[in-house]
This record gives sequence, structure tokens and C-alpha cells, in this order.
Amino acid sequence: MRGYTFYAKVSRVFQTYPSLSKLLVVSTVGGGSLLAFSDDRPFQRVSNDGGQKPECNKKKKVVVLGTGWAATSFLKNLKSDSYEVQVVSPRNYFAFTPLLPSVTSGTVEARSVVEPIRNIVKKRGYQIDFKEAECLKIDASKKILHCKSAQATNLGGKEEFTVDYDILIIAVGAQVNTFNTPGVSEYAHFLKEVEDAQKVRNTVIDCFERASLPSVSHEERKRILHFVVVGGGPVGVEFAAELHDIVVQDISKLYPSVSNLAKITLLEAGDHILNMYDKRITQFAETKFQRDGIDLKTGSMVTKVSEKDVSSKDRATGQCSTLPYGLVVWSTGIAPRPVILDFMKQIGQGSRRVLATDEWLRVEGCDNVYALGDCATINQRKVMEDISAIFGQAKTNDAGHLNKQEFREVIGDITERYPQVELYLKKSKVKNMVALLDKYEGEIDIEKFEKALSEVDTQMKNLPATAQVAAQQGEYLAKCFNRMEKCEMYPEGPRRFRTSGQHRFHPFRYIWKLKCKALGVKNQKLLKRKNMIKLMLTNFRYKHFGQFAPLGGEQTAAQLPGDWVSIGHSTQWLWYSVYASKLVSWRTRMLVVSDWFRRYIFGRDTSRI
Ligand code: FAD
Ligand code: MG
Repeated sequence: MRGYTFYAKVSRVFQTYPSLSKLLVVSTVGGGSLLAFSDDRPFQRVSNDGGQKPECNKKKKVVVLGTGWAATSFLKNLKSDSYEVQVVSPRNYFAFTPLLPSVTSGTVEARSVVEPIRNIVKKRGYQIDFKEAECLKIDASKKILHCKSAQATNLGGKEEFTVDYDILIIAVGAQVNTFNTPGVSEYAHFLKEVEDAQKVRNTVIDCFERASLPSVSHEERKRILHFVVVGGGPVGVEFAAELHDIVVQDISKLYPSVSNLAKITLLEAGDHILNMYDKRITQFAETKFQRDGIDLKTGSMVTKVSEKDVSSKDRATGQCSTLPYGLVVWSTGIAPRPVILDFMKQIGQGSRRVLATDEWLRVEGCDNVYALGDCATINQRKVMEDISAIFGQAKTNDAGHLNKQEFREVIGDITERYPQVELYLKKSKVKNMVALLDKYEGEIDIEKFEKALSEVDTQMKNLPATAQVAAQQGEYLAKCFNRMEKCEMYPEGPRRFRTSGQHRFHPFRYIWKLKCKALGVKNQKLLKRKNMIKLMLTNFRYKHFGQFAPLGGEQTAAQLPGDWVSIGHSTQWLWYSVYASKLVSWRTRMLVVSDWFRRYIFGRDTSRI
């Protein structure tokens, strides 16, 4: 009887999710990671009726711009069906950008790294409407978006329409920064979108096919087979390494007469490549590139790209030189998209370089608009700006002093409100803020308080433009939205800094441990009840899980939290497993892993299609 009930339950599950039966077969064969599988589970519907009912029955319309890392993470984590969600993006798929350099060499196929957004949202258990269109203009005063359809013109595409919203989530990413260098837009290749990677792959093969023609002179062959990469950041370096791999491992066998003419040059304006990584990684990468014969020119600013030459200037000597090339790939960073620049002007942020949000991802100077991912940056508040307010709001005795007990009461709020405090404590190896103030024995006045916190703001750093940040922001915002109604039950805001830090919602699981640590509470369960209201309110906190730098030849460098550096073949295996688990679906995971096997057994495919 028990067996029957179990069978009935299982068959009901399979009826509800027909793809699960396929998945079971797949996971039995692949023995894939359970951790990764749990990512993909459809969320159960969660009713939010525990909180107050909205003022009217009409659901709020949330419009999400984009289908990249930030937007997809938001959509995957949104559980609440109390919103009407509409997505607008010119791309009807999510692209796993960290594998784009592998697409340029054919190690991984383009279709293996993308997942239709409709596939992703259909598993969510609530309705999402998708429009394949580009947002041309955000009209924040009327709460209207002007959009243009993104289908081919022969279908009658490219017509314009408007979409209205109650809440707008901007996650449009960024575009390549050419620094207005002449000729870059016309002649250089980029590595930002899937189409870019496909174009680069075909051009590399084209170069070798053309160099193999009898009509082409030796000099011309050398030019055609000169590949120039501009920018020594993680993308440029990974692309150069992939290109070197394909030349050594595949091209040398398939184009033996010309492969020895192939040359790769990497131009970097700074003194080193991978300068955001640990010095050990930079050094290893530079030595490896030298060994591999990749010509590394640091301190070289590209001044112009023409049809056949790249002109550059040496920063130290001021000497100009030109390099004939067959393919130039431009990878020097990102800049805001025109739609964002226009929006910034409308809301009084015209003088800024990037769209600014507060720590709750709300666009500054605009109601009900959130921005996340590469298109925005968090404008963190400085402790020193608020120091007298913080001191004033803590209880002071008659002489204007804080005793230790009073001080202890505000510590939690300070570390929550100003994440730089924690970074500072970590860097200066001080256990906590009480320890920091221990040297001021007895009572603390405002001057001592100022002195103790004076260096804290130097730790403030903008978050990097990475998928890791974008995905965490998307998850954070979705959790906020999931709790929005429930949290309206607790309108009080943080105990201390109500004016500067008030917000109605927050995913408390995120800061749980931090909070316990800051308050020095060992028993987390005790804290749960006592500080529930306080914990419902916090800002976005980024958690860094480390970064990889694939360097070719099955060698990868990894910089993990705690300044832990690992380089070599074993790290390459770590890279394989982390990236496989991070892929957005089991379908893409299967495709990518089988591409890796295919490459290993048969080599890369050099058909130009
Ligand atoms: P995106 O992912 O770029 O998404 C933007 C979305 O907005 C897209 O769907 C786009 O079609 C849509 N859109 C654009 N314009 C409009 C418009 N006008 N209206 C509506 N929608 C619009 N990060 C890492 O952490 N690790 C890595 O290994 C890594 N490797 C990378 C490799 C490459 C080659 C590249 C290019 C980037 C890499 N990154 C990596 C960075 C990472 O991809 C970005 O930080 C991340 O994509 C940012 O996410 P996002 O959602 O803000 O923007
Ligand atoms: Mg996005």
C-alpha cells in the first residue's frame, strides 16, 4: 500500500513536470551535481497573503528590461504572483557570457551557451509576458517605455510601440567602450554578444583559408595571420589564450603550410595584464604568454584602427607604431548604453558617468525604478558624511559622551548601513568595532568617534561589472519583491538611521550571519526573534566567491576569497566543474559538457558556416 502511494505520488510529479523523467535519465547517466540541479527546480507558488492586502486588487505591473545575468536572476528568483511581469529585451535568450571566448575558438558551440528566456520563465509557476524589442527611451515622468520590435525587417519588424509600468527594473547591461578611438567601430571585432563570438570564429577561419590561397603574397599572408587583441583584461587574455590553443592544437594540423606564420599580439595600455588579479596570477600569465610566443605589448595605447593597420603609441617613450593585422579584437571595457545616458539626463544624473542607485538598487532621483547589473553602480554613502547624525542618534549622556553600552547598541546598525566598516576592520585585522574603540578607554566623544572611523571610507570600492555581481543583485531584488507585502507590516525601518537607510523590505537570510557577528550573538535562534523587525531591512551586500582566469593549454588561474591563489591543471578542472554547475539549465549543461568531450576527442570544428 505504501509502495503504491509512493508510486502514485511519483507518477503525479512526472505528469506535472514531463521533462523530469528525461532529467532523471540524464542525471543517472551524467551523474551531474545535485547542487546544480537544485538551482533549476521550479519554484512553488508562494502566496503573500500573510501581509497586508494591496490597496486595490489590480496587480502592480513590473517591467523588466533585459534578459542578461541580472534580469534572468531576478526572474528565476521571483516567487510572488502578486505582480504582472513583463520582460522587454531585443534578445529572446539568456547568454552565458563567461563561455563566449570558448565560442570564438569552437571549443563550445554558440547554441550550447544560450537558453531561451521563455524556457527559463515557464518553470517559474507564474505568468510572464515577453516582448522581443529594444527599449529606445524611458519616460520616467509618464512611466512609459518607448520600444522598437527586434525582428527582421522583412517580417515587417522594427515598428515602435509603448509599454507602461508601475515598477521598472532596468537590467540592460552596457556596451563596448571604444573611447572614441577612430576606426574601432568600423574595423574591429568585439566580444560582447554571442553574434560577436560567432563572427570572430568565422573570421579566424577566413584568415587561414585566405592565407592558404596561391595568389596571396608572403607579406600579405603574414598580415592576414596577425591577430591583434586590444585590452589585457580577463576577456582579452582568455581570448588570446583560446586563439593560441586553436592554432597550436588544430590549425597546425589542418593548415600545415601557413600555420607557422600565425602571430598573436596583445596590446595593453597599463603596465600589466590582468591588473585586477593578484600579482602572482599576473606574473604567471605574463610568463606563460611569453613562453607561448604571444607578443605582449604593455604600455601601448591604441590611437587608431584602419582597414589593415592598428596604430599605437608607447606610453613611456611616446613612440608611435603601426601593426598590420588580419583580425583585431577590441576588449577594453564597457560604457553606458544610449538609452541609459538619455534616462540619466531626464532624472538629473546627466553629469555622472554611470547610472547611480542607492544601496537598495533604487535609481537615485526616481521613484519605483530599480537598476542592476552592468548598467548601474551603487552610490555608497560615506560614514564621514553621516558621522554627527550617527553620534546624535545614539543616546548620549549629559556631557555628550557615549558609554560602551550605548555604543554597542549602534554597532549593528553602523556595520549594516556602511559595508566599508567591515572591510576596514578586516583589513586592519581588528576583530570588531568594540575592539577598534577599545583604545579609547572609558567614554567616547564625537572627536574620538570621528578619528576611529576616519579611514573607513577609503575602503569603499565600486563593485566590478561582472556576472557574479549582476546575478546576486537580481536575486536580492527578487527576494525583496517576494517579501514586499509581508514587510509592509513592519513599517518602522532600522532603529537608528531612519532617514538615510529606511526601506520596507529585505531578504534577511543574506545578512543573517553578518548580523550575528556584528552584534556578537552566538545563538542565532535567539537573535531571530529579538531582531526580526530589524533584520527585515537591509541594503544589498555583495559576496565575492572568487574569480577565474583561463590561460590556455588546460591551465587556469583562480583567485578565491581570502587571497587564496591557485594556478595550473587542477584549477582547470575546478573551472570546468564550477562553470558546468553555473550554467542556467540542464539542457545547456549537457550541451557544454558534450562539446568539451567532442573537442577532446575530435578536435575543434573549423568549418566556416
Ligand atoms: P547583460 O548580461 O549584458 O544583459 C543585458 C540584457 O539587456 C541583454 O539581454 C540585452 O539584450 C538587453 N538589452 C540591451 N539593450 C536593451 C534595451 N535597449 N532594451 C531592453 N533590453 C536591452 N563576468 C563574470 O562574473 N565572470 C566571467 O567569467 C565573465 N566573463 C565574461 C566574458 C565575456 C566575453 C563578457 C562579454 C563578459 C563576461 N563577464 C563575466 C561579465 C558579465 O557578462 C557581465 O558583467 C554581465 O553580463 C552583466 O549582466 P547584466 O544583466 O547587467 O547585462
Ligand atoms: Mg540583465
